[in-house]
Amino acid sequence: MIKITNISVEDVRFPTSKDLTGSDAIHTDPDYSATYVTVETSDLKLKGYGIAFTLGEGNDIVSKCIESYIPIFKNITCDELEKNIGKLWYDCADHSQLRWLGPEKGVVHMALAAIFNALWDLIAKKNNKPLWKFVVESKPDVIMNWLTFKYIEDALSKDDAYNILLENQKSIESRIKVLNEEGYPSYTTAAGWLGYSNEKIIELCNKYIKLGWKHFKIKVGNNLDEDVKRLEVIRKTIGDDCSIMVDANQQWSIKQSIEHINAYKKFNLLFVEEPTSPDDVIGFKKIKESVGDVNLATGEACGGRIMFKQFFETKAIDICQIDSCRLGSINEILTVLLMAHKLKIPVFPHAGGVGLCEYVQHLCMIDYILINGEKDNKVVEYQDSLHEHFKYPCIIKEGNYMLPRDNGYSIEMKEQSVKTYSYPNGDYWKSNK
Ligand SMILES: [Mg+2]
Repeated sequence: MIKITNISVEDVRFPTSKDLTGSDAIHTDPDYSATYVTVETSDLKLKGYGIAFTLGEGNDIVSKCIESYIPIFKNITCDELEKNIGKLWYDCADHSQLRWLGPEKGVVHMALAAIFNALWDLIAKKNNKPLWKFVVESKPDVIMNWLTFKYIEDALSKDDAYNILLENQKSIESRIKVLNEEGYPSYTTAAGWLGYSNEKIIELCNKYIKLGWKHFKIKVGNNLDEDVKRLEVIRKTIGDDCSIMVDANQQWSIKQSIEHINAYKKFNLLFVEEPTSPDDVIGFKKIKESVGDVNLATGEACGGRIMFKQFFETKAIDICQIDSCRLGSINEILTVLLMAHKLKIPVFPHAGGVGLCEYVQHLCMIDYILINGEKDNKVVEYQDSLHEHFKYPCIIKEGNYMLPRDNGYSIEMKEQSVKTYSYPNGDYWKSNK
């Protein structure tokens, strides 16, 4: 009987603010960081790894919060973990004291996500499968016990979810075959960080076109005239066959959003991401009413399924951008994917950050195989930095994510990377204070 023997967490920070990778209108100097959770078991070869993603300062606060949940999992067996993962999720989400700090949002929910990301990695490895494969090969009755219906059953009932899972069972094998051959389309964010010069953006656009990308996301938000000039440069560089989308990272008021988005219309954008506050459902509705048929997207800062319910049911957004470390891991992510499918909102997962591409490669495959069966009008985010720190980084071919082959949820880091970038005592931070 294999038992969980220890859970530990490391504060790992990468100094991305040095070259402005990840910079946007509001987060001007992020150090891409991870609260790196390790779950050890009585089988020394079986370990689970998970992260939450932050921008540097505060990573220690998420780590501290993770420690508060650890006693819930001490000494349970891996079989009990797999069987009771749905109940254990609520033991954390409804923790009688920690819950006050959320509920189900902010630091507590990110801490929950980090732990459950590690536990799902462990469960997939125990079953000798990549996580996506473990999930899609699980029976609908089993999956139903993982899901988080509380507060959203008015939008997605248990019967709705079960029927979607059941309906798609017959297509699982054929969809896996398609993904094996084609992969899942991605867009690149890596050419358009706000801190980059026009010369650098042109050089990067040309590089990514050669590598096979056709979708380019650009950060905007500080200065309308400069944004329009940058978009002109990019459109000229990538041509009319490629798509552009922009991301304002919550920078604008409603009035500014409308003004900016209308000024960008001539660039025929695929979507506009996070124009304003991620909580402002009514604000998104007002923007939508004033910008015609421009698609609005949000979700990377969306605290949980209950916020997504508001956005979906009011049709305030056109595209849902789930985040693998802000939603409460697979339990809540699957629930949101099912709700999005029922309410006909396509999901384009967010992956700008460390480790997020490693996670979303599983999530887009699960969405396609198990729930949605549609991928050719969707794109999942890809950004190309920091993959070298992972033992099993995602594989991209001609702009498509390929099916992960290794067991687990793909987030195990190289030991040397953890050692070097642990904060504040890793080698890098000791010599760069
Ligand atoms: Mg974004």
